[in-house]
Amino acid sequence: MVTVSSVSVDVVERFRALWRSLEKIGRDEETGGYRRHGWNGADLECREWFAEEAADRDLELRVDGNGNLFAWWGDGDDAVLTGSHLDSVPDGGGYDGPLGVVSALVAVDLLRERGHTPRRPIVVATFAEEEGSRFGLACLGSRLLTGAVDTRRALALTDREGVTLARAIAATGGDPAEVGPDPDLVARFGCFVELHVEQGRALVDLDAAVGVASAIWPHGRWRFDFRGEANHAGTTRMADRHDPMLTFAFTVLAANKEARLSGAHATMGRVHVSPNATNAVPGQVTAWLDARAAEQSTLDQLIGSVTAKATERATRDGTAVAVTAESVTAVVEFDAALRDRLATALGGVPVLPTGAGHDAGVLSAVMPTAMLFVRNPTGVSHAPGEHATDEDCAAGIEALAATLEELACR
Ligand SMILES: [Zn+2]
Repeated sequence: MVTVSSVSVDVVERFRALWRSLEKIGRDEETGGYRRHGWNGADLECREWFAEEAADRDLELRVDGNGNLFAWWGDGDDAVLTGSHLDSVPDGGGYDGPLGVVSALVAVDLLRERGHTPRRPIVVATFAEEEGSRFGLACLGSRLLTGAVDTRRALALTDREGVTLARAIAATGGDPAEVGPDPDLVARFGCFVELHVEQGRALVDLDAAVGVASAIWPHGRWRFDFRGEANHAGTTRMADRHDPMLTFAFTVLAANKEARLSGAHATMGRVHVSPNATNAVPGQVTAWLDARAAEQSTLDQLIGSVTAKATERATRDGTAVAVTAESVTAVVEFDAALRDRLATALGGVPVLPTGAGHDAGVLSAVMPTAMLFVRNPTGVSHAPGEHATDEDCAAGIEALAATLEELACR
């Protein structure tokens, strides 16, 4: 098994050096969180960093029309694709995404130094806007590449300032006409292995530095539009109000309770209030529900019962609620043969599911896909406290190097 004690000081040092060269980009000094969002300044700096690292390694950099970057070691078809993403959620941690990219680059270095020449190309990728933080659709780059999202619909997506994806791409030197599926490129990849920091504490409980993914829970985002009647906070009698904030507040509690009862996860972490004034009864509240469960039926039941409770409460509050599904993803079972091969090659590391979505989930529809997870001592993710020790990151690099050797060099 790949264990921390089997990792050399040299690999830890290599990881630290490359990590340091990336970690300042897009980090807010006050919060310590990252603000790397698709096609913003920090995101473009990250892409430049990647291009330089690829050039330093004589990897041929190819960019598709969707802002995804690919650094090729070797040429030909049936390539082994690895890497992850460099963008973050607002005030996100540093490891979600970048750990997979940095680990892939160091793994390439290790394979070379150990005298391996791949018989299949090894390609390190960074996928664009994986978190969907700017345009609201997670895994945007991999969805566009594989045709999992309609190109015209994607180009019309807007950020919070009303800038469309088409405009953001054009403003940063890209060509919106080039956006869309690239089946010829996809056909050149034989499989994808994404290394990622674990976004939970399963590996802590299992006392293992590295694990292999079994599946991604079905998950999605639902928009709740609560409509009432804006009015004066001082003069409107309590009995005469149509206050959508009440319906919203009840829905937040109902989502939490229903998720606890069904063993699912539900969060309302984003809300817009109109007019958002201290002395006004609000007229409109829009909030987003993020929900995930091990089984599709559990997730469906959760959304059904939260919707029913919100609707019933709206009747009592004299408001209305409309629920719209956005960015819903079915369960992803990773390729069983690839998963078992990797778990065996890595000496029997644990196999575990995850509640988080990934580009690997999108790509699993078009190629055999696997994921490696690196232990996260606190389990915190999508927040500045997200962490993995340098020694565990080095263990992840050794595991990825062994994986690439197994898949591409034998
Ligand atoms: Zn990620």
